Amino acid sequence: MTMDVVALTQAMVRTPSLSGEEGGMARLVAQAMREAGFDEVTTDANGSVVGYAGPAQADVALLFDGHMDVVPVTGHWRFDPYGGVIHGGRLYGRGSADMKGGIAAAICGVAAAARQGLRRRIAVSASVLEEVIEGHALARVLDAVQPGAVVICEPSGLRIKAGQKGRMEVLLTLHGKPAHAATPQVGRNPLHAAARALLALESLPLPSDPVLGPALLVPVDAVSQPYPSISMVPGGVTLRFDRRTLAGETEHDVLGPIRLCLERVGVRDYTLEISADPVRAFTGESAAPPRWLPAWRCPDDAPVLAALRGAARECGRDDAVGCWPFCTNGSESAGRRGIPTVGLGPGNEEDAHTIDESVAVEQLVGARDIYLALARRMGA
Ligand SMILES: [Zn+2]
Repeated sequence: MTMDVVALTQAMVRTPSLSGEEGGMARLVAQAMREAGFDEVTTDANGSVVGYAGPAQADVALLFDGHMDVVPVTGHWRFDPYGGVIHGGRLYGRGSADMKGGIAAAICGVAAAARQGLRRRIAVSASVLEEVIEGHALARVLDAVQPGAVVICEPSGLRIKAGQKGRMEVLLTLHGKPAHAATPQVGRNPLHAAARALLALESLPLPSDPVLGPALLVPVDAVSQPYPSISMVPGGVTLRFDRRTLAGETEHDVLGPIRLCLERVGVRDYTLEISADPVRAFTGESAAPPRWLPAWRCPDDAPVLAALRGAARECGRDDAVGCWPFCTNGSESAGRRGIPTVGLGPGNEEDAHTIDESVAVEQLVGARDIYLALARRMGA
C-alpha cells in the first residue's frame, strides 16, 4: 500500500522514544515497514529494526539508516512536543527533524522503489541508542545486513554530506595523595598537576583537514575523588576531554601526543584512557563500548556518491557535496568499516535538539523522492 510520509512522521513523533526506551517506536516502525510492503522485517538483540525490499537471494546494495531515539524535551514549547502538530507548512515535535522524518522518508521511498521493481536488495534500518553512542547499535545491524553502501538519513536540509569529524572521549586522571586540607603538606594535590596539564594541552598542535576543518581538543569537565572534596586534598582528579578527530587519525595519533606533552611539563603520575560508559538497550541488552567514533570522508569517485548526486539532480535539488558538523552512525559504517557512506536527510541540522524542533513538510516529501530515486539507481 502507499504510505504517507507526513502521516507516518506524525505517528512517530507521537510515540516518545528516549534512548533506551525505543520499544514502542520499534513496534511502530516494524508495523509501518510491513504495511508498506517490505518483504522481510527483523528486530535484533538491541531492538534495532531492519526492513528489506527486493529479491531475497540478492545482496543488499544499499542500507538507509536512521536512529529511533530522541533527546529529552526541555523548556517551554509552543506546540506539544509529542503532538506532531502541522502549522505553517512545518511539522512540530521532538524527533521531527532528528530524525523520525528521515526514517519515515526512507520507509516510504524504498517501498515506492520496490513497487516499481528492484533487481538488488535495499534495506532500511531504524537503530537504537544513537544519541548515547553513535555507531554502537548500527554495528550489529551491519553485521547482519552486510550492505554495499550506506546512506545516513540525519538532517541535512536535503544537502549531500560526504563526511564528518569523529570524536573520542579522553579521560586523564592525575593521581595524588589524599590529606586533610588543614595539613596539605603531608599529601600531594593532583589539582596542581591538572592545572599544568590543562595549560600545556591548550596549545597542543593538532592536525587540520581542508574539508573537515581543524581537529579539536576541548576540556569538558574536571571531577575530584572524592567529589566534592570537603576539607580534603583529593586523591585524584579526572579531566574529561572531547577530541574531535579527522579522517585517518587513530587512537595512537590522539593519545601519543598527549603523553609526550604531559612528559614535557613533568606530569608523570597519571592514567590516560578512552571513556567506556555502560549502555543498556530497551531489550535489556547491555554493553560498555568505548566512546571512540572515527571520522570519515566518502571518496569523490564512490558510486553511491555519484548515485546520490544524480538522484538529487533528478529531483531538482542541489547536488553540491559538504560535511556534517556533528558525529553520526557513519562513524561505524565508514569510519570503522570503510563501507562507502553518504548522508542526506530532511530538516535543518540547526533544528536538532532544540525547543520547538520542527521539519518542513516539503522536506519530508523531498527526502522521500530523493530516496526513491536513489534506491532505483542502486537497486537497478
Ligand atoms: Zn540524529
